Amino acid sequence: MTPANDRPTAVVTGASSGIGAATARHLAGAGFHVVLGARRAERCAEIATEIGGTALSLDVTDAGSVRAFADAVPEARVLVNNAGGAKGLEPVEQADEDDWRWMWETNVLGTLRVTQAFLPKLRASGDGHVITVTSIAALDFYDNGAGYTGAKHAQAMLHRTLRGELLGEPIRVTEICPGMVETEFSEVRFDGDAERAAKVYQGITPLTADDVADTITFAATRPSHVNLDQIVLKPRAQASGTRAHRE
Ligand code: NAP
Repeated sequence: MTPANDRPTAVVTGASSGIGAATARHLAGAGFHVVLGARRAERCAEIATEIGGTALSLDVTDAGSVRAFADAVPEARVLVNNAGGAKGLEPVEQADEDDWRWMWETNVLGTLRVTQAFLPKLRASGDGHVITVTSIAALDFYDNGAGYTGAKHAQAMLHRTLRGELLGEPIRVTEICPGMVETEFSEVRFDGDAERAAKVYQGITPLTADDVADTITFAATRPSHVNLDQIVLKPRAQASGTRAHRE
């Protein structure tokens, strides 16, 4: 890995697009050496070049890949568990087991693997921070969304449990719960159906990836004794996972 100079290191998973890519840029702007991880490593490499960071290939569903990724990062002060997403939008009766498996592997077990791999380094930094991007889907449930809301609830439980387990240690724990953000999220959810994905954001001004990245960077740059436990951010026109005002 290229030397981090004297900048503290922030690790961002799922940094090849959307919230993760924007977060890498914002954290670099705040003075971090950012390590970007995702399966599309070439996309991470472009951003790394732009921000003086380091790109590494990472598949959070693969224990060996997570191990190799963590082994390549000598130190870390901030970990942003961002890799994740949704697949499908079906009633429970028609839910696709493979979609559910993908959501659990990526959002839940991926966060578990990466967090386990980095906790020793965060602790050793003397001022660590675990930031996990869950969702408003971790706070509520909605029709046809059980696979995603279930996975995000489980990811949130893992994350919130850390808050107590790490009490007394030099590690902060922040959960970020965004509402609607326009990224590749809906295209992934609808298997590349761009038209269906675009409809999700019709008639509403959604959050941008930069809005969420700005919030993550705010949390990461508070003084060490200030722990922002949970931040919920939504477009003004969105009240919940099921209620939004569309023009
Ligand atoms: P996105 O543009 O689709 O980005 C998802 C990122 O996750 C990509 O960089 C993708 O990279 C990465 N990823 C997926 N599977 C991975 C794997 N197995 N290993 C490593 N990286 C993986 O969507 P986004 O909106 O920015 O999503 C980021 C996070 O925000 C997710 O956890 C999502 O659930 C959450 N969120 C999104 C919204 C929203 O409305 N967009 C709202 C609330 C929460 P590769 O494909 O290159 O691996």
